Amino acid sequence: MTSTIVILGTGGTIAGRSGSAQDNVAYRAGSVGVDELVAAVPPLAALAQAGRLQHEQVANVDSKDMDHALWQALARAAARHLARPEVAGVVVTHGTDTLEETAWFLDLTVQNEKPIVLIGAQRNASEKDFDGPRNLLNAARVCVTSEARGKGAMIVLNNQINAAREVTKTHTSDVETFKSGDFGFLGVADNDRVIFSRAPTRRQHVPLKAMKEGEKLPAVEIVAMYGGADGKLVRSAVANGAKGLVIQGLGWGNVNVPMYEAIQEVLAKGIPVVVSTRVPNGRVLPVYGFKGGGKTLQEAGAVMADNLPPQKARILLMLAMQTTSKQADLQKLFDR
Ligand code: ASP
Repeated sequence: MTSTIVILGTGGTIAGRSGSAQDNVAYRAGSVGVDELVAAVPPLAALAQAGRLQHEQVANVDSKDMDHALWQALARAAARHLARPEVAGVVVTHGTDTLEETAWFLDLTVQNEKPIVLIGAQRNASEKDFDGPRNLLNAARVCVTSEARGKGAMIVLNNQINAAREVTKTHTSDVETFKSGDFGFLGVADNDRVIFSRAPTRRQHVPLKAMKEGEKLPAVEIVAMYGGADGKLVRSAVANGAKGLVIQGLGWGNVNVPMYEAIQEVLAKGIPVVVSTRVPNGRVLPVYGFKGGGKTLQEAGAVMADNLPPQKARILLMLAMQTTSKQADLQKLFDR
């Protein structure tokens, strides 16, 4: 019977405390253990008592401190638990700031029909209206819903279910912060039941290669285009060890001439460059033929990020570069 839920704790505001409701100077993420979080939600504590819920503390950090090593540890822990026949799904408690990056990393690297449900909280445990317990309970409910199978990694906050590829944090403090732009929610964890309205269709698996202790994924930096950008940061990123670059371009994926020339230079050195956009919705497209337009960037060797925002394009590029840096191979992955 697949009815056991495994909760992997990593920290964040859901595990955070502040001096008082008003005192955010004393606020620290990752102050509360996953055991305490579970104990504070009676239905989950009862499941744990009955042996149907287990938890593991993978880390206890502010999600600004998530990195390659933690992502890998988390992916391996999730894969290990999902492979157990009695496990229905895995819940990850996490800070909201980089939650969408971790969700995307897990969606790409963990291959299993069973769901991975990521949650956080916008208000910490010292606040009267702490949203952690509700989100944790909803995550467990989504985990054991049969329709959650095959939908990969999802973020569930404020009763709303979002797909890893599509979701982004849209508000600094509201409890309704995770949204999927043009695509909308996958479903809701309503009071009486969990309802899915659709499935995420653009999913793919990019395996995490076995790595030696301390070994990292290829270093990929994000460089922004803005009015007056001079390309210095593009050259400097590569001079400082970047093995790949994501450009946060404008509109359809455009940059000015100095940025274009810097990008051309690093492409000529064999550094893959992926072009994304700072616009929250829509795809980048190689349509403009002026110097710095998407078409000229593509002709120079750059890869178009489709509708992935820079922070998610970076993750796909890092994982892809374990096996290839060729423009055509990379473009295929970004087109999927
Ligand atoms: N700084 C926190 C974090 O991402 C914010 C949160 O969890 O909402 O860890």
